[in-house]
This record gives sequence, C-alpha cells and structure tokens, in this order.
Amino acid sequence: MDEGVARVRDALQSGRLAAALRVQSTALRAVGEFMHEEGFVQLMPVVVSPLTDPLCHSVYEAKVSYAGQELELTKSMIMHKQIAVSSPHLPKIYIVSPNVRLEKEHLRESGRHLIEFSQVDIEVRGAGKGEFMGLMERLLRSVIAEVKREREADLGLLGRRLEVPEAPFPRFESSEARKRHGEGFEAVLSETVPTPFWVMDHKREFYDREDPERKGYYHNYDLFYPEGFGEALSGGERDWEYEVLKRKIAERGQREESFAPYMEMARKGWLVPSAGGGFGVERLVRYLTGIKRIGDVTPFAKIPGERFTL
Ligand code: AMP
Ligand code: MG
Repeated sequence: MDEGVARVRDALQSGRLAAALRVQSTALRAVGEFMHEEGFVQLMPVVVSPLTDPLCHSVYEAKVSYAGQELELTKSMIMHKQIAVSSPHLPKIYIVSPNVRLEKEHLRESGRHLIEFSQVDIEVRGAGKGEFMGLMERLLRSVIAEVKREREADLGLLGRRLEVPEAPFPRFESSEARKRHGEGFEAVLSETVPTPFWVMDHKREFYDREDPERKGYYHNYDLFYPEGFGEALSGGERDWEYEVLKRKIAERGQREESFAPYMEMARKGWLVPSAGGGFGVERLVRYLTGIKRIGDVTPFAKIPGERFTL
C-alpha cells in the first residue's frame, strides 16, 4: 500500500483528527456569525486569475493556461479585495479563500506550512490599523469562547486548555523587538508572551501602506499566537495612489505589467484607502487544538517537499 494512503487512513481512524475538524467547524461558524453581525458581506473565492499576490518570499510558480492565456492559482486575494472595496456598496468584505503557494522544501519541518491552505481574508474600506486590529481581537476572542463552549469534549480529548485572551493584545514594534531579541524575535516572542500579541511594521509587499512622512515605516501588523504557535495573521493599511504604488513596485524589482488591471484602476484613481488582513484556517485550528504539526489538523495535508498521495 502507498504510505500516504496508510497515513490518511490512520489519521481518519484515530478520532483526534475528527476532534480537530469539529473544532474547525465551530471556529468557521463563529467567524461567519461574527462577520455577519459586523455587517460584512462574504465573497466567493477566486481560484485562477491573471492577477495574484506577489508575496514577499519566493515560491514555485503555479500557473495554468486557458485559451491561450496564462492564469495563476491564487496565492491570496489581496488585490481583488482592494478592488472590491473600491465600491461604496461593499465597504466590508471577507472571503474564505483557498490559497496555493508552492512553498520551498526548507519549510518542510516548520510545522506551520502547507502548499495549499485556506485563508479567511478580510478588507474594510476606509479603516485604519487600530480599527482593524480591534476587530480581529474581538473576532479571535469570540472564536475561542465559542470553541470552549461548544467543543469542551473535543478539547478534553485533545488535552487542550484554552483561555479567552484579554483585549487589547500587547503590541511590539518590529524594530525594537529585533534590537532586543535578534532576527528570530518573532519566535522568541511567541514562546514567551503569554497571550496573542501584535508585531507592527514589516517591510514587505508593495500594497502595504508606507508612511509618506517616514519612509521605511509600514502601517501593517502581524498577529501571533502564544505557546510557540507563531504567526496567525498578516495585514495592513493599504496604499492606493498610482504614483506611490508604481514607485514601490519598482523598488521591489517587480514589473508594473504583472499587476496591469489593478494598476489601471489605480491610475484612474479608482482605488481607495482600506485596511485588512488574513488568517490561515489550519493555523488557527492548530492553536485552538494545541496540535503542533499543521499536517495533523487536515486529512489531505500537503507539506512542502513531500510526495502527495491524495
Ligand atoms: P500572509 O499574508 O502571506 O502572511 O498569509 C496570511 C496568513 O495565511 C498567514 O498569517 C498564515 O496564517 C497563513 N499562511 C500563510 N502561508 C501559509 C502556508 N504556507 N501554510 C499555511 N498557512 C499559511
Ligand atoms: Mg505573513
């Protein structure tokens, strides 16, 4: 028998995976209810498009051709989100979006990476970072509270104790954290800070808002889980002005043509300020269940560098 088939069969029979999937079901219901109560509209995912996230790290290409056109599998819906909230009729949106990122093999043992995962991707027209971070703190608190209430037996079976964290969560500036703890500051903080926390200001993709008065300072944020679970969410305020976007794309050695429809909208002045972010569903389930390896929270996990059976 193929080793992969045996592995999937064992995981399905063990009961632990099913407990994790029940926790996931409750978490997704809680997310949907929270978003609905907050007035968000859910969009269905884009799976293939000429336009996707350039990311700030290198992955293998995932392209298909259709009718003579090259399309990429979605890495994230960031630009589609910005385009959607440019409508005054859609100021608050979210998508539970499949993301394909053909991550490099060195991430095999990270415990946190898959080459396909689901992201809850959220964007709010006209929002600033404080407003969006507050929204995410309330969302995480309500998800944890619901999981504790509805999945007590599953958490017990998994040996997991969860507390609803107090808000606001602690915030760290990346520059200061780096000075204190070195390049591995994110891991150090995730191991030592006892609650979920934010790290502010990451130098990354062209669409995250750079302070116009303070070049090199980014109005973005990452949410981290404690107990060494690491990154939960990345997000930021967005840049929307054509000249700014053009300069930032060039500074990253990227080509404006790669983002042609988005840049056309920016040039016409159709994009608007917004803030948003996205969190990985499987990583959330890892934290909620206390299961360390991401491959153990989903039946058909694709770990970077492994051979896939199913
Ligand atoms: P990013 O904007 O690239 O940080 O992606 C948004 C979120 O998706 C991250 O904060 C993670 O929770 C999740 N995520 C990103 N890459 C992966 C991956 N390769 N496998 C699983 N989850 C991921
Ligand atoms: Mg990130």
